[in-house]
Amino acid sequence: MAARILIVEDNEDNLQLASKFLEMAGYETLHARSGEEGIAVAIKSVPDLILMDINLKGMDGLTAAAIIKKDPALKTVPIIALTARAMVGDMEMAIARGCDGYLTKPVNFRTFPSVIAGYLGETDDGKKENPDS
Ligand code: MN
Repeated sequence: MAARILIVEDNEDNLQLASKFLEMAGYETLHARSGEEGIAVAIKSVPDLILMDINLKGMDGLTAAAIIKKDPALKTVPIIALTARAMVGDMEMAIARGCDGYLTKPVNFRTFPSVIAGYLGETDDGKKENPDS
C-alpha cells in the first residue's frame, strides 16, 4: 500500500506542485490549507508522513506540528517542516517544536522523492528497508 503523505500548505501552486511530484513517485497525498485543517486531517487520517509549511495564515506550522506531536496516535508520524525562510536557527526551532526534519523552499523536486523516502525509512524503489539485513 502506498504511503500517505499529508501536505499542509496555504499556497495553492506549491500544494499542487508538491502533490504532483509525490503522486508521480507513487505516494498518496492528503491536502490541508491551514494549520487547523492539517491537525484535523492528521487526526482523521493518520498519514505516514506530514509536510508542514511553517508560514501559514492563522496558526503557524510549528504550532500545528507541536499539537500533532502531542497526540499519542500521531507522535511517531514524521513531520518535515517546509519554509522559505532559510535563516540560521529555523532548523533548530523546527526540531525543538517537534518536527523531525526540515526542507527549505523552493523545494528541489528532483531529489524530493528520495528525501521523503528516507524519512519514511524506505529505499528509493519504495520498499521498506529490512532492519535485520
Ligand atoms: Mn505558506
